[in-house]
Amino acid sequence: RPYVVGLTGGIGSGKTAVADGLGRLGAALVDTDLIAHTLTAPGGAAMAEIETAFGPAVIAADGSLDRAAMRALAFSDPAARGRLEAILHPLIRSESARQCAAAQAPYVVLVVPLLVESGNWRERCDRLCVVDCPESLQIERVRARSALPEAQIRAIMAAQASRAERLAVADDVIDNSGPLAELTPRIEALHRRYLALAKR
Ligand code: ATP
Repeated sequence: RPYVVGLTGGIGSGKTAVADGLGRLGAALVDTDLIAHTLTAPGGAAMAEIETAFGPAVIAADGSLDRAAMRALAFSDPAARGRLEAILHPLIRSESARQCAAAQAPYVVLVVPLLVESGNWRERCDRLCVVDCPESLQIERVRARSALPEAQIRAIMAAQASRAERLAVADDVIDNSGPLAELTPRIEALHRRYLALAKR
């Protein structure tokens, strides 16, 4: 199977920026967020099971998952969140394995936002890369991109692994605490490293 680099980092750390940069250089990208969206899009492979589990209240008019309704349900009923994950996770895992195996590239970047938190992903990866920046910058960047209030961003961060926990398990750390211009040469250096590792 192709060489797989797991890429993770906290909310707003810059996972997308790093993955896109490696992709432009020739890596294949497998994005678990994108897979989750496809599974819950109209006609998506998870939708029948989701409707059976939660009823029509969480189904939008176009047949996709009504994310706001699902979030409200998961908030009022924590077990519902677990049931949703029990439906989605096996599908995400099998689809990501399929995409990794089918990749036509020197190596694959498997983007998993909660890689450190959810276990089982690490064994799928030959190498673990963590995108790192100070928490204050994560908040600043997420606020610049969305209308999410700071308290909500902090709540999401509190539910994720800490910066120290991620750094402790990383094989490679890419520092994204500077401007994007500084990120580019770091992405190029990582790409060279992964080309060499994949060849071994
Ligand atoms: P999420 O987990 O929330 O999807 P992410 O880890 O994929 O986030 P990105 O989407 O890459 O992070 O970056 C978050 C936001 O910060 C984006 O709007 C992005 O354009 C911006 N950003 C990323 N890196 C930098 C940087 N070095 N300087 C300035 N802005 C940046």
